Amino acid sequence: MRLLLVEDDLALSRSLKMDLESAGYAVDTATDGEGGEFLGMTENYDAVILDLGLPKISGLDVLRRWRAANNSVPVIVLTARDAWHEKVDGFKAGADDYLGKPFHIQELLARLQALLKRAYNQSQSALQIEGLILNEEQQAVIINGEAINLTAIEYRLLRYLMLHPGKVLSKAHLGEHIYEYEADPDSNVIEVYINRLRKIVGNDLIATRRGQGYVFGQKP
Ligand code: CA
Repeated sequence: MRLLLVEDDLALSRSLKMDLESAGYAVDTATDGEGGEFLGMTENYDAVILDLGLPKISGLDVLRRWRAANNSVPVIVLTARDAWHEKVDGFKAGADDYLGKPFHIQELLARLQALLKRAYNQSQSALQIEGLILNEEQQAVIINGEAINLTAIEYRLLRYLMLHPGKVLSKAHLGEHIYEYEADPDSNVIEVYINRLRKIVGNDLIATRRGQGYVFGQKP
C-alpha cells in the first residue's frame, strides 16, 4: 500500500512517515498544498493523509480540486482539535474520515486500516487464501500454521496481491503501489520479488500473464 502524507509540520511529518513505514506502508510526503495536490493528481495512492492548515493551497482546496477532477482516493483529513466546523468542511469537501490533532499513531493506523478495508470491500482483518493467512493488524504472515518472516517490500507486495485476487496486475502497477516516489524501481526488481514470494508462498499462487503481469490466486 502506498500513502501520501501532506503535512507542513516537518517534525510531525517525519515521525508519522517512520511510524507508517514500520506499519508496512510506502509513504510519500509533501509539505505544502501545491506539492500535495500535484502528487495526488499524478501518482497512484491507496490513501491520503491530508492536513488542512497548509501553506500555498489549503488542505480543503486541495481536496476540493481532487474531487472536482474525479479523483476518489480515500482521504483522512487532520483537523485542529475540537474544531467541529473543520470536520464538517472536510466532509463537505469529500473527506472519508478525520482525525483531530494531537492524535495517537495507533488511532491513525486503525482509521487507515478501516478506510482501506472499506475501499477494498474487505470484511475481516485477515486476508486468507488456502493455507496462507496475512493478518494486517499484527503484520503477520502464516503459511499452513507456521509464521513466516518477510521483508518490508515482500510484505507490501504480498498484501497488495492478496487484496486484488484474480486481477491482472502489471509490474508497473505493482511498483507504483509498493514503492515510494523517489525509489523509481525498474520492473525487473518486481520480477525478482515475485519470484522470491513464489518460493515462500508456493509457486501455484501467483500466475504469470505473459506481457501483462501477474494474477494472484490463480494457477499458472
Ligand atoms: Ca498545518
